Amino acid sequence: MTHEGGSEGAQRPRVHVLALGGTIAMTGELGPGVTPRLTAEDLLAATPGLDAVADVQAEQLRQLPSAALTRADLLATARRIIEVLDAGADAVVVTQGTDTIEETAFALDLVLPGPQPVVVTGAMRPANVAGADGPASLLAAVQVAASPAARGAGVLVVFDEQIHAASRVRKGRASSPGAFTSPDTGPLGWVVEGEVHVLAVPSRRRTVPDVDAALLERIRVGVLPVQLDDDGLLLDAVVGLDRDGRGFDALVVEAFGGGNVPPSLVGDLASLATRIPVVLTTRTGAGMVHTATYGYPGGGVDLVRAGLIPGGWLDARKARLLLTLLLAAGVGRDELAEWFV
Ligand code: ASP
Repeated sequence: MTHEGGSEGAQRPRVHVLALGGTIAMTGELGPGVTPRLTAEDLLAATPGLDAVADVQAEQLRQLPSAALTRADLLATARRIIEVLDAGADAVVVTQGTDTIEETAFALDLVLPGPQPVVVTGAMRPANVAGADGPASLLAAVQVAASPAARGAGVLVVFDEQIHAASRVRKGRASSPGAFTSPDTGPLGWVVEGEVHVLAVPSRRRTVPDVDAALLERIRVGVLPVQLDDDGLLLDAVVGLDRDGRGFDALVVEAFGGGNVPPSLVGDLASLATRIPVVLTTRTGAGMVHTATYGYPGGGVDLVRAGLIPGGWLDARKARLLLTLLLAAGVGRDELAEWFV
């Protein structure tokens, strides 16, 4: 469906909305629970003001809760975005569930070359409840996508009037339209009175070259959260192989503080790091891994000396996705570290 209307039809940016499901598309009853059932066209119809902003097209790509999205869905979304941009759209808005936006938006940011705006949004409240935030989120996302200020800024996530970089954003609460934050930087900008204000742009953006779709399906990167007095049982399970004799192709360690683990884990992590890439991240929710501070057994200095790759500013979830895409693109072990900044 194209929402034309307005007096400057031909001049308005063409924004293509790709709907994947999520709470923004959910309705139903409390009790049995809401499920995704509103179509992309339903979402546009429920959002007043779009016509004044852009010439908006709607397309249903998936109809899923975001917990059910797969890497194949992600690749299909990236491919479709490239197709519609090649076909003449000026920008794309993706609507999806909020649970995995911090991962999907980051993955899109890593594979889409740009510079056309790609904005991801959703809703924290289902469509049938008072204060449903889907229409406001969709309108703000289209406003950002239609803005020249979003060009070249990488994939953006828009919620609650805020514009976040996909590389920094996290879902920081289980409820509330204000659940999204960028703990390390704050939002890049705001949508105020329908105007888009981008106050900062991400400092560094790199695109992972030529991800092999078949390899992407096969690559398995695990995440190991470490615990106080960790007895290593989970790490033993990670090191193990499945029935087909396959184990993880890489591991992300979600460590304490600046990147520290109990001394009991160091031996196994060090030997694992001789076989597969092991990336070190912090479980704190913000900040970067330290590589020159703690030299005790299990401290960051010790772990990097043992061959772990410091994950920089990326949290475990984003590090896992970056690692997965890099391995699926055939990036060699020696080149991995330079991607984690
Ligand atoms: N559980 C939902 C999902 O991620 C949450 C949401 O969309 O807000 O699909």
